[in-house]
Amino acid sequence: MTATRASYRDISLYAPNRTPCPIDLSDNTNLWGVAPAVEAVLRGAATTSLTRYPSLYAERLKAAIAGYTGQPASRIVTGCGSDDVLDSAIRAFAEPGSRIAFPDPTFPMVPLFARMNGLVAVPVPLKPDYSLDVEGLLAADATIIYVCSPNNPTGNAVPPESLARLVASLRDDQALIIDEAYAEFADANALPLLADSGRVLISRTMSKAFGLAGLRIGYALGATDLVTEVEKSRGPYKVSSIAEQAAVAALEDGLAWAVERIADARAARATLMDALRDRDLNVVPSGSNFVFAPVRKGGAIATAMRARGVAIRPFEDLPQVSAGLGATGGSALRISVGPTEMIQAALAAFDEARAECE
Ligand SMILES: *Cc1c(COP(=O)(O)O)cnc(C)c1O
Repeated sequence: MTATRASYRDISLYAPNRTPCPIDLSDNTNLWGVAPAVEAVLRGAATTSLTRYPSLYAERLKAAIAGYTGQPASRIVTGCGSDDVLDSAIRAFAEPGSRIAFPDPTFPMVPLFARMNGLVAVPVPLKPDYSLDVEGLLAADATIIYVCSPNNPTGNAVPPESLARLVASLRDDQALIIDEAYAEFADANALPLLADSGRVLISRTMSKAFGLAGLRIGYALGATDLVTEVEKSRGPYKVSSIAEQAAVAALEDGLAWAVERIADARAARATLMDALRDRDLNVVPSGSNFVFAPVRKGGAIATAMRARGVAIRPFEDLPQVSAGLGATGGSALRISVGPTEMIQAALAAFDEARAECE
C-alpha cells in the first residue's frame, strides 16, 4: 500500500533532454532574446513588493492582454505558463472519466494532463497530408476537443475553415480548446471564432514569440462563463508579481520589438525550409517558429548534432500518419528557427551528423 493516488503510479515525469547546449534549437523559444523594455523593467523591479502576494488573478496583465488581442478583460484568464491554463481548463471542463480527443501527433502535455485529471485520452491520427481529421475528432464522442494550431510538432496551421467547421458542429456539452502557442507566427488566428461560440477557449503563451519562457506566463480567451470556470480551477496567485510586470512591458512598450522578431522568425523559417528541402527532406509547410521533417535515425542524428554544439528535438516513435513518417518508421526532427548564424550552424551540424549516421 502507498499513500498516493493509484492512477498516478505509471505517469512519468516530463523528461526531454534539457542538458545545456551552446546553440539550443530544441524548444521553440525566442532565440533573439527579450525586448529591451522587458529587461529594463526587470532591472528596476522594486524588491519591496516581493514581501507581498501578487494580485489574485493578474488584473493588470489582463488589461495588457486585452489591449494586445482586442478582447475584453472579462474574457481573459492567465496562468503560470499556458501549461497551467490548459491543465486548469481540462479540469474545469470535464469530470473524471470523460473523454478528451486530440490530433496525433500533437503537444505531448495534453495526454499527460488528461491522465493527471482522470480523463480518457482519445488520439485521432492526423491525415496523410498532416491536416486535421475534423470528422474523426467530432466522432470521438469527447467532452473536450483539443486542437493545436499551428500544431506542435508538425508546425502546420489548421485552415480557418476546418476550425469553423469544428466550432459549428460542437454539441452543447462539448468544449473546444484551440492551443495557439504559435499564433504570432501564423497567417491567421482563431480569435474571430470567439464571436460565434461560447464553447471555445483559445490558449496563448508569452513563452514563444515574446521570449519569456523562464517567467511562465500563459493566458486564454473565451466566453466569460468559460474563463471564470478555468480561473476557479486554476486558483489565485499563479502569476508572480515580477512576471506580471515583465509581461505587461512585453505587450506594451516591448510590442514593436516582438513584431520585428516575429518577422525575422518567419524569414528564417523560409530559409530553413528551403535548405532542408534542398537536402531532400519532406518538410511540412510551417506556420510556426520551427520546422518539422521526417528523417531516418532522428535520435542518432540529434545526438551527433549535440556533440557538435547544436540541440534540436528528435522524435523516434511518432504515429506513421504520412508517407514521409511511414518511410522513416516514425522518426523525425523538429528544429526551431533563430538568427542566421544559428541556422547555418544547425545545417552544418546536420550535414555532418547525417553523414556520420548513414
Ligand atoms: C510551448 C507550448 C506550450 C506551453 O507553453 P508555456 O506557456 O510555456 O507553458 C503550450 N502549447 C504548445 C503547443 C507549446 O508548444
